[in-house]
Amino acid sequence: MRSLVLIGHGSHLNGESAGAVYRYAELIRERGLFDEVVEGYWKEEPSLRQVLKTTASTDVTVIPMFISEGYFTETVIPREMGLGHQGPVPPEGVARVLGGKTVRYTLPYGVHSSMADVILERAREALPDLGDEGTPPTALVVLGHGTTRNENSNRVVYENAERLRHTGLFSEVEALFLDEDPKVGLWPERVRAPRVVVVPFFASEGWHTLETIPEDMGLTGAVTVFPQNPHGTQTVYYARPVGTHARIAEVILQLAEEARGTGGRGGDEDRLHAQAWAAFMTMARRGMRVGEVMITPQLGMFEVRHALDEGIPGGDLTTTVTPEGLRDHTRRDEGGHHRPVHTLRNLPRGWRAVLSETDLPRAMHALYPAIVEEGYAHQQHALRATPWATTARRQTGIYAKVQKATPEQVEHVAEDVCSGCLRTRLWASEQLPRTFFDGVPGAIPCAEACTYLVAEVREEVSGKRGSGSGHSH
Ligand code: SF4
Repeated sequence: MRSLVLIGHGSHLNGESAGAVYRYAELIRERGLFDEVVEGYWKEEPSLRQVLKTTASTDVTVIPMFISEGYFTETVIPREMGLGHQGPVPPEGVARVLGGKTVRYTLPYGVHSSMADVILERAREALPDLGDEGTPPTALVVLGHGTTRNENSNRVVYENAERLRHTGLFSEVEALFLDEDPKVGLWPERVRAPRVVVVPFFASEGWHTLETIPEDMGLTGAVTVFPQNPHGTQTVYYARPVGTHARIAEVILQLAEEARGTGGRGGDEDRLHAQAWAAFMTMARRGMRVGEVMITPQLGMFEVRHALDEGIPGGDLTTTVTPEGLRDHTRRDEGGHHRPVHTLRNLPRGWRAVLSETDLPRAMHALYPAIVEEGYAHQQHALRATPWATTARRQTGIYAKVQKATPEQVEHVAEDVCSGCLRTRLWASEQLPRTFFDGVPGAIPCAEACTYLVAEVREEVSGKRGSGSGHSH
């Protein structure tokens, strides 16, 4: 059983403050991915001290529903929940066994890399023609609260500004703050573009987003024209705060998933894994092709796009700046069909991802899971293939039937299905003398029949597979 605990600030004075946490808990509950979704609050009940006791399972993921790191996420919550941790939380989170429960405490949702895409979506809502050809230069202001109490709290605003600077969608990107330099009131001097989109990096709609910010900036509504600014006429498009975007529910789920995937590998495997990624990053820094994509280094970041989109101006492609955004763009083929096997040669075109060094590995996991590890292991002669017979023997339930498939039937289905796949079937004794690590982009090993092929073989054995159909459903 798994429990998800969302921690909010809450308020002793009004019930509104807990509203956002409550709504996200509802949204996630509806998905049914956790056995229970529980809320806990600093100033309301269940309190931080009680909340763990209220969870029924022994596997608990705790997510602070805060927009940035700071006093609450680093001091108050860990202390009150008895996590035995103080100070900055590492990217992989903190895991403890408390009273027989494994408790995983994550970073606040606001620092997750996919927040950059939420900012972009908010900006697009405020200015729908953003990035269109022929539109005037547009600046983006990411607006944070800012506080001197904890230096970490502003880092996320600067990081997001930096990510978005690389999208090429904006002529300038500024990080400004309400309570700290550079202050928001300075915007007319700092921002030159005729159009300015302002996205508040705030958790909720409230006093700051409704009153303080408009007042400090001189805004009169969603769109305000300033005819006599130092840099000429400027129009400000005021977006809604990021924290109320429906996509935050996805960010929460992503954080919970990442908190789960820790450890488990042995020494040799760990070493090979580290070497594989080191080799891959070295190639990526020089620019490389792998599978159907090309990776180009760009000012300390990496641009990933379909290799057939080479040379197309960035503005003509849909830009994402997160691994999750890349995953969303490549989930379906151009006909809108689900892509069950990522290495099938049907990667859609028309998108590009601009990613940091930390995000590139995660993006590769989303795009082509495990190919870096397997490609490298194959190059080092350390990849062991699993013959079809072994894969078939392992199948149970409705798939046990594949054990009856003749070698001819398996080959017949594989010729049809695998011919559309980039991978080379080592499990069927095909040879792959070189890999993408040797500069052959499409050379990717397949060490074991995938579940898609197994399902197709089952259809074949059942006589339900039309010959040469390639797809059973
Ligand atoms: S079995 Fe291997 S080669 Fe065939 S479709 Fe699956 S992943 Fe591709």
